[in-house]
Amino acid sequence: MRITGTHVAYYHVCIRKLWLFANGIAMEHTSDIVAEGKLIAETTYLDRARKYTELEIDGIKIDFYDAKNQTIHEVKKSDKIDRVHIAQVKYYLYILRKHNIESPKAILEYPKLKHRDFVEWNESIKEEVLDWVTKINDIVNREDCPILEKKIICKKCSYYDFCYIDEED
Ligand code: SF4
Repeated sequence: MRITGTHVAYYHVCIRKLWLFANGIAMEHTSDIVAEGKLIAETTYLDRARKYTELEIDGIKIDFYDAKNQTIHEVKKSDKIDRVHIAQVKYYLYILRKHNIESPKAILEYPKLKHRDFVEWNESIKEEVLDWVTKINDIVNREDCPILEKKIICKKCSYYDFCYIDEED
């Protein structure tokens, strides 16, 4: 299976979500949260779309890539900084490095917070990512869906109805 940035993000959010997504049960398109994210990306950085290129490579899609400076600009709609976002861009950096981009880096942008985080390639990212890849492959190839582990984020998850259909609350 070709691993994408979405697999990496879901691995860090919830392994049940990862399994459901990887096994073809996709409900994300119905989510208002995704729609809001797209709206922010489309309206907040209009100028960016003119300056940078969209890059699709080896299962990942980067909306704003500055080829001259080998820099990914990743816009997040979130109003809090999340380790999942860092993990996702680390995976992007790994893929770029794998394709001979010498010193890839990423700027994570949070327009709601007016905040930016910087992530630069280093060899420890490679080890981290390869560990995730092994674990992701192991999870998605399981026969059975991982059990439901109730989390705070469940209520915002597009699989909420699916997961909680038999639960009291
Ligand atoms: S609703 Fe909760 S348990 Fe179910 S996939 Fe989403 S985050 Fe995971």
